[in-house]
Amino acid sequence: MPSLPVLVLNSGSSSIKFSVYEAGDGERRKLHEGAVDGIGTDQGSFWIKDADGNKLVDQNPALPTRAVAFKLVADALHSGDFPAPVAIGHRMVCGGPTVQENQLITPALIDEMERYTAFAPLHTPIAVYIMRESLRLFPGVPNFVCLDSYFHRTMPEVVTHMPIPEEYSAMGVRRYGAHGISYESIVYQLQPNVPEKLIVAHLGNGASISAIKNGKCLDTSMGLTPTGGIISGTRTGDIDPGVLLFILRKIAETAKSASEAADQLETVASKKAGLLGVSDLSNDMRDLRDAIKEGNAKARLAVDKFTWTIARWIGSYVAELNGLDMMVFTGGIGENDIVSRAEICAGLGALGIALDPVRNNVRGEAVISAENSRVTVRVIPPAEDLIIVNHVVRLLAE
Ligand code: ADP
Repeated sequence: MPSLPVLVLNSGSSSIKFSVYEAGDGERRKLHEGAVDGIGTDQGSFWIKDADGNKLVDQNPALPTRAVAFKLVADALHSGDFPAPVAIGHRMVCGGPTVQENQLITPALIDEMERYTAFAPLHTPIAVYIMRESLRLFPGVPNFVCLDSYFHRTMPEVVTHMPIPEEYSAMGVRRYGAHGISYESIVYQLQPNVPEKLIVAHLGNGASISAIKNGKCLDTSMGLTPTGGIISGTRTGDIDPGVLLFILRKIAETAKSASEAADQLETVASKKAGLLGVSDLSNDMRDLRDAIKEGNAKARLAVDKFTWTIARWIGSYVAELNGLDMMVFTGGIGENDIVSRAEICAGLGALGIALDPVRNNVRGEAVISAENSRVTVRVIPPAEDLIIVNHVVRLLAE
C-alpha cells in the first residue's frame, strides 16, 4: 500500500482535536496535529503544528458553533497547504449493542449509533454530528468509526451483564467501558512483551482502570456510561443507586418536567461530582495539590477518595486476574502526578507492588517500580491517534 494521509478526529464538548498521519505498509508518521478550541465563544483558538512542533496556523477566530469550527478544519485540509486526507478515523465512545466493531461510516450506521446516545450522553451527540459533517465536507473520502468500547468487547458476560430486570438488559443496558483506545494503545506499545496479567490505570480528567489478561480486556471500571467506575474529575463513579434516587427526588420538587429532572441529575452526577464535588474547588489535580499544600481539608479528602478508590480497585483486579505481572499508569494524572502514583501504590506492598521514589520522580514514560518489586510498574503515555490510524489502514485494506 502506498503512503496515504489519514486524518484522525477527536471531538469534545468545546474542542475538535485532529491529527494527520502518513500511513503505509507498517509505516506511521505524524505529519500535523491541530485543534479548534473554545467552541461557543467569541474568541477561540485554531492552530496546526507540523511534526517538529512549528505552528503553521495560529488564529483566534470567533467560534459561535461547532459547524463553524469544523469547517475551519475542513477548509484548511482542502486548501492545498496540507495533504488532503484519503481516509478519516473518528473516535467514538460507544456504538451501543449493535455496533461493536470498528467499521466504515454510512448515514445508516450513524443513525443506528445515535439510538444509543443515552449510553454516552456527553460524547455521542458531538461525535455523530462531526461524522455527518465529515461525510458532507469530505465527499468521496471513506470515514471509519473507532470505538472505545471495541477493546472491551472481550469482557465475559458475567462482567458486562447488569443486575437489572431483563427488559432493560434487552434494551442494551450493560457494561461497555470507555477509554478503550487508550488501553489498546498501551497493549500495542508493550508488544511483543505483553504481560499475562496487566492492570492499566487511565487517570485523566475522566478516569478508569482495566484488568487485561494476555492483551485482552477482562474487566474495566466504567460501566454503561463513562460516569461509572472510579471517581474522576467531575463524575461520581460507582455509587449507591439510592443516592441518585435521593438527589432525583430533591430535584423533582422544583423541576418542570421529568426530562428536566433527569437532565439536572445527569449534570450533578457527571459534571458537578467527583474531585470537583468533594473538594468544592476544582476538578484539576494540579489545583487540588496546590490547595492541599495550603492545608485545604476538602481538597485533601477529594484526593484521598480518588487514590483510595483506585487502590481498592487494583486489589479486586489482582484477585480477578489471580495475580499481577505489570501495572501501568497513563492519562494526565497517571503521567504527571508523581504524588498520586505514590499514594495509590503506598498500601499495595502485599500485592507485590513497590515503587522506587527516585524512579517515580518523573513525568512521562518510565519504569517506576523498585528493583525488588515483584510487579513491574510503568508510566506510558497513550498513543490513541496511532491506534485509530492502524484501524483505518486495516479497514481500508479489507
Ligand atoms: P482528558 O481526560 O480530558 O483526556 P487528560 O488525560 O489530558 O484529560 O488529563 C487531564 C488531567 O490531568 C487534568 O485535569 C489534571 O487533573 C491532570 N494533570 C495534567 N497535568 C498535570 C500535572 N502536571 N500534575 C498533576 N496533574 C496533572
